[in-house]
Amino acid sequence: EAKAPSNFIRQIIDRDLAEGKNNGRVVTRFPPEPNGYLHIGHAKSICLNFGIAESYGGACHLRFDDTNPEKEEDEYIHSIKKDVEWLGFQWAGPVRFASDYFDQLYDLAVALIRKGLAYVDTQSPEQIAEMRGNFTTPGRNSPHRDRSVEENLALFADMRDNKFDEGAAVLRARIDMQSPNLNMRDPVLYRIRKKAHHQTGDKWVIYPMYDFTHPLSDALEGITHSLCTLEFEDHRPLYDWLVENVDLPDEPRQYEFARLNLNFTVTSKRRLKLLVDEGHVDGWDDPRLPTLSGLRRRGYTPAAIRHFCENLGVSRADSVIDMSILEASVRDDLNHNAPRAFCVLNPLKLVIENWPEDREEWLDAPVHPQNEDMGTRRMPLTREVYIDREDFREEANKKYKRLVLGDRVRLRYGYVIQAEDIVRDADGEIVEVRCSYDPDTLGKNPEPAEGQGKMRGVIHWVSADRGLPCEVRLYDRLFQTANPSKVAEGESFLDNINPESLRVLQGCVVEPGLRDAGPESRFQFEREGYFCVDRDSVDGRLVFNRTVGLRESWPR
Ligand code: ATP
Ligand code: MG
Ligand code: MG
Repeated sequence: EAKAPSNFIRQIIDRDLAEGKNNGRVVTRFPPEPNGYLHIGHAKSICLNFGIAESYGGACHLRFDDTNPEKEEDEYIHSIKKDVEWLGFQWAGPVRFASDYFDQLYDLAVALIRKGLAYVDTQSPEQIAEMRGNFTTPGRNSPHRDRSVEENLALFADMRDNKFDEGAAVLRARIDMQSPNLNMRDPVLYRIRKKAHHQTGDKWVIYPMYDFTHPLSDALEGITHSLCTLEFEDHRPLYDWLVENVDLPDEPRQYEFARLNLNFTVTSKRRLKLLVDEGHVDGWDDPRLPTLSGLRRRGYTPAAIRHFCENLGVSRADSVIDMSILEASVRDDLNHNAPRAFCVLNPLKLVIENWPEDREEWLDAPVHPQNEDMGTRRMPLTREVYIDREDFREEANKKYKRLVLGDRVRLRYGYVIQAEDIVRDADGEIVEVRCSYDPDTLGKNPEPAEGQGKMRGVIHWVSADRGLPCEVRLYDRLFQTANPSKVAEGESFLDNINPESLRVLQGCVVEPGLRDAGPESRFQFEREGYFCVDRDSVDGRLVFNRTVGLRESWPR
């Protein structure tokens, strides 16, 4: 595997190692909040954190940031673990939870109180917010800022022992109400929430804030480099303040990088959840979503996603990545690796009149025309085959490289045929093409002869008797605008949904060799695009999802 390109974080780590910092250890973590499914943006963070651990012989922890008792669900925890593993990464040690540290965090909070660095504020939340000030107004000290250590210890114990109502008291760090950084104006460290927690049950009625929990969990786990997205830059002084003021042996450092923004989609969990909850898509793994489980169901490979993330680079400059770059990553991968197959999406029957009724000839075709090692596949040719409706015209100019009445094409990997006649139904629609085949054209060009039509091209086909009926789901971008979240007053990002993001084709026909293809098997349907088997397939009735077209094709 190619070495990951360097970036500013790797340069920092190289320097730290050269200076002998952290005893030469490199420990990172990926810290999802279990309040939704992972998306392509998370993949960037996963590839960065696990990728660094891999290439430095270090470790990467998976830690659920579950400080918020309201939102977490087991379904999310399960899916997040599965997605990380699917991408091909393994966390070091057990799965960790920030809630594992609630006891230790409580003790660390008590230690801060003892040092005079934290106090219990019994003002109302509104008063606290008002006195914090804003970017132009300095903060004002709380009247409770100078309580004695003893009083604070007693009040904090009362908070823990459920002697207050929700909102009646918080624990705050005692830092600097004049700081230009709002995060440093005596931030709240603990609040009261009378909610059961999915890991700790009813044990706690006070919960530590994210800004308190995160740095100290990092320190408790011996994380060396805590990588997060740029919106946490303003929180770094608080991160450093906490790490410095608690007595833990390890001192992790936080570094920020730009988040991945992708156009034509949304990656906010809140919006994704709304799409799912309101039924605009069919669950978190809908193939139109940028969730990892959606991309997986769409036919993306872990290699394509990793490659995409590695090539994004890591910087501190915000940018928007074009969806076509993600699509190209899977197209390239599947172009190299996906077996080829024939599938006729809009079948039109073609009868080879000079082919005996019950003759069945098995033809050899390469699994991958550019890779002999992938072997061959066999396809039966019979008197009746299906071709795509798009591949036949009664008349056409010479640019049309498909079948035209009176002219000839090769049935790919088979014989040259000539269209002789058409059959119409009562409405005048063509329902059958009658043709002849030239027996002397298997694997060789026809001899020019009198009375033959023009040779136009090569088309795919499937035996009408032996082909397998299937359903094909043609997925497209979920949003029709590049920045779906940008909406006018009174409008919603939902208004930007692409009404053609899914077209379902019934009655398609695929070559019989795919009969036993299991869910997530990926193919290039020759001349059509890349497709994978959906888990909705039952009993030989296959359902395919279009992953991506053969070439870039937006806008259509
Ligand atoms: P959202 O804002 O959608 O709720 P989040 O950042 O709150 O996402 P977390 O579960 O807290 O989601 O994220 C876990 C990790 O993944 C964090 O370190 C976060 O910075 C990172 N991450 C989330 N979204 C992106 C993104 N778009 N690009 C890069 N990293 C991301
Ligand atoms: Mg978060
Ligand atoms: Mg969030």
